[in-house]
Amino acid sequence: MFIQSFKVESPNVKYTESEIESVYNYETTELVHENKNGSYQWVVKPKTVKYEFKTNTDVPKLGVMLVGWGGNNGSTLTGGVIANREGISWATKDKIQQANYFGSLTQASAIRVGSFQGEEIYAPFKSLLPMVNPDDIVFGGWDISNLNLADAMARAKVFDIDLQKQLRPYMESMTPLPGIFDPDFIAANQGDRANNVIKGTKKEQVQQIIKDIKEFKEKSKVDKVVVLWTANTERYSNVVVGLNDTEENLLASLDRNEAEISPSTLYAIACVMENVPFINGSPQNTFVPGLIDLAIRRNSLIGGDDFKSGQTKMKSVLVDFLVGAGIKPTSIVSYNHLGNNDGMNLSAPQTFRSKEISKSNVVDDMVNSNAILYEPGEHPDHVVVIKYVPYVADSKRAMDEYTSEIFMGGKNTIVLHNTCEDSLLAAPIILDLVLLAELSTRIQFKAENEGKFHSFHPVATILSYLTKAPLVSLNSLSIHNMKFWKVAKLIIVVATTQVPPGTPVVNALSKQRAMLENIMRACVGLAPENNMILEYK
Ligand code: NAD
Repeated sequence: MFIQSFKVESPNVKYTESEIESVYNYETTELVHENKNGSYQWVVKPKTVKYEFKTNTDVPKLGVMLVGWGGNNGSTLTGGVIANREGISWATKDKIQQANYFGSLTQASAIRVGSFQGEEIYAPFKSLLPMVNPDDIVFGGWDISNLNLADAMARAKVFDIDLQKQLRPYMESMTPLPGIFDPDFIAANQGDRANNVIKGTKKEQVQQIIKDIKEFKEKSKVDKVVVLWTANTERYSNVVVGLNDTEENLLASLDRNEAEISPSTLYAIACVMENVPFINGSPQNTFVPGLIDLAIRRNSLIGGDDFKSGQTKMKSVLVDFLVGAGIKPTSIVSYNHLGNNDGMNLSAPQTFRSKEISKSNVVDDMVNSNAILYEPGEHPDHVVVIKYVPYVADSKRAMDEYTSEIFMGGKNTIVLHNTCEDSLLAAPIILDLVLLAELSTRIQFKAENEGKFHSFHPVATILSYLTKAPLVSLNSLSIHNMKFWKVAKLIIVVATTQVPPGTPVVNALSKQRAMLENIMRACVGLAPENNMILEYK
């Protein structure tokens, strides 16, 4: 049975006028390596930590500013939300299609609430906590191309033509603000597009972005703004001691107009300064250590990197299944070809490298979790290839071959072929990212040993289900950069920066989803979903 909403009645939960207060007993374990009569052994001690959560239930009017608003993702998301809001339907060669939010965790997935008279009861994911309704979002943003959103939608070639015709009147008047353009950071083939750019020094550009956010907030009368980067993939910026390794050095470099500060880092600085959440949907290292420091000190939410939309999502399911089943993946080879502007930009080696890195670490945690299958340091061969093929436009092809060792030296090869409009996968993920980022800023919590309530750590690992290379703050480094760094530099940086607590990187998709759902359940005093269903055993 499916129910639309529910309320929790428990001594652990209190619904006040503007808050849900919950007390939650977090069952966890503590591990000790103990010397017992001369030999060491691992001892696991279950422990319970009492947490209190407070969720502000005043849902704000939300403004979403997209960097790269006129791109395929930006125009597809904007058109998709308008189509849903206006209840638009359109004729395809198959049927009359209604607008929907398929592919969105918050809008189109369900959670199990419990059982009623022997029947499982499910409810919408979004019914767990009060969230912004996508209908009420006001969109805005920047693009280095000045096309209005209706023409950008036509350029993207994603929506059916009948839908485009109906959306055009709503989107013609939407024009992106000028963006920060630096040809050194994206492929040279993007130069022709750049006719809408902010002039001036890097500091002046940051000031302009701050001004844009303030003006947008005022004009559109929204209470809160979230900014999300869905612009072209940039090359990695060099992380250099003295340049961008600490907050002070990054800000001093900004004053000196240093060339190596990327446009995405400039937008991120502006957002952190304004305390506006900033999410990076592309693979590059926008969050250089100095930026992470800045966000932590100002307690301003940052999240990323790189939307987890297609191939990587499958990978984080399939490898979790294989390793979890005791099967040993030994070779994972992924080919992609796509013909949209993202594909053209990725055809340059430097931008491709960013994508390759973000796609490459996704199986690490699963491989490292099973030392029965893998020797220390052993790793499957993992190769990623991306080719630009204009004819297929936004309809991306992903072909994967997984070879694994099975029982008694046998080999198993699984081949997947995935064809799908790339932006129709990414748009619902962007929606989830902004809705969940907004929600997470309304949640406060504290453990029993903490004096006062605080928000989630500004590096938003809670969004990891939706991103390929979840950013975690470990010794002030964004962990997906690590392979890129010279060890010497790393040691110097670690030694000179604040050390927030390390966070394990989890890529396995089901774990990431369970984490998010269970945290939201804790906010309304519900136990985590443990799938034991003991009442029927
Ligand atoms: P796109 O090329 O269609 O759109 C990017 C837009 O950004 C363009 O309109 C471009 O003019 C604009 N732009 C570039 N640099 C800018 C800047 N500095 N400031 C403002 N605007 C700028 O690409 P897309 O298909 O919409 O994808 C966007 C990003 O999302 C890419 O980096 C891509 O790698 C990433 N991504 C996409 C998917 C997916 O579509 N499934 C998945 C993961 C990541």
